Amino acid sequence: MQTKFILDEDQLPRQWYNIIPDLPGPMAPVVHPGTLKPVTPDDLLPLFPMPIIEQEVSQQRWIDIPEEVLDIYRLWRPAPMYRAHRLEKALDTPAKIYYKYEGVSPAGSHKPNTAIPQAFYNKQFGTKRIATETGAGQWGSSMALACQMFGLECTVYMVKVSFGQKPYRKSMMQLWGADVIPSPSDQTNAGRKILEMDADSPGSLGIAISEAVEDAATREDTRYALGSVLNHVCTHQTVIGLEAQKQMEMAGDYPDVVIACHGGGSNFAGLAFPFAADKASGKDVRIVAMEPASCPTLTKGVYDFDFGDTAKMAPISKMYTLGHDFVPPGIHAGGLRYHGAAPLVSQLVDAGIVEAKAVPQLASFEAAVLFSRSEGIIPAPESSHAIRGAIDEALQAKEEGKEKVVLFNLSGHGHVDMAAYDAYFSGELEDYEYPEEAIADSLAHLPKIEGV
Ligand SMILES: *Cc1c(COP(=O)(O)O)cnc(C)c1O
Repeated sequence: MQTKFILDEDQLPRQWYNIIPDLPGPMAPVVHPGTLKPVTPDDLLPLFPMPIIEQEVSQQRWIDIPEEVLDIYRLWRPAPMYRAHRLEKALDTPAKIYYKYEGVSPAGSHKPNTAIPQAFYNKQFGTKRIATETGAGQWGSSMALACQMFGLECTVYMVKVSFGQKPYRKSMMQLWGADVIPSPSDQTNAGRKILEMDADSPGSLGIAISEAVEDAATREDTRYALGSVLNHVCTHQTVIGLEAQKQMEMAGDYPDVVIACHGGGSNFAGLAFPFAADKASGKDVRIVAMEPASCPTLTKGVYDFDFGDTAKMAPISKMYTLGHDFVPPGIHAGGLRYHGAAPLVSQLVDAGIVEAKAVPQLASFEAAVLFSRSEGIIPAPESSHAIRGAIDEALQAKEEGKEKVVLFNLSGHGHVDMAAYDAYFSGELEDYEYPEEAIADSLAHLPKIEGV
């Protein structure tokens, strides 16, 4: 009964998989927030270094991972894949459950998989300082780590509600040498504008992105880095799925269903895109994205052009969105509180290649507790949504008396999120109503993009 599937270091993928050439149709253009015309590489240069801009639109299916990046990946990659024997037993299910574990990185999540190459390309390009935002703190800590490794300065705008909920994330960022500023802040025009309207604003990822983008756009030595949503981020994360494919082969199985949680789409894309390529070449595999019911971008949003941020400074993409000024309830899975979704994932959902499901907060915590008690690992509140999805698939298999192979991504551990578990056990956590009115209101403000 093998439990861990471990690859040797020499089986670490040497190339990322770029799904763009394999999409079911052409990508919608990315639109400039000011001119409402398609963006050019020059428009993006104040924000990103050229190698990243090139990757963003690359039609090359396989992209070499630089040696300097592989050297750092080797600190924790290849990441293990587990068979969840004990969870299967607890559920009394005929299903086989496998999970890929990304919590083994120094930051405790999948996010360093893209933070490291982003810092590398910035360093190579001559960037001195990175400005970025963070929700729950995982991205900020990953970027702080990556900047530290390549000798870049790092300023992180952290969503205020998380700044209070997750003080140890802030300490991690400081430990890795970053400056951390609660957002909305009085340091940027975007932040000041929000504070004028609502001095007690809990903040949102959309607002924090506006602040970081403004910071980067107004300083010559500074570039911006985004931890999810964009094409190059999804591409960097495919090391997850490429390793998992080899590990499933070691296990002698192939998944019937591949599941990951979805905030902006990066860990989902990372696990799912290599399997989506299999699906395109005829493999029978379902691919499911799990999101919170209180921020149901893929299940209740619209597939349309919208701004990436609240202040309408970031480029406009065609994606599933709840509207750029939607501020989701302060659930503890802070990493899943984004109004939009990766355009690549959105296109696959729209084409029916990827399914999406929404989970209430309490159901995801129940899954996290069962998982911790059977497998031992304490999951991040975000990852718990994927666990819920896997458990539901396994329970359905039990009901139908069917064998089924389930693979999910355990995107991170919850060691720095114990306040969330504390709230759960003291009965303080609640399910939020689906914020129907707030979403309808926000969707009324989408930009009108025509003829691009
Ligand atoms: C940030 C984060 C997520 C959500 O972001 P995606 O880009 O959707 O992957 C999920 N899980 C963990 C552990 C995270 O840190």
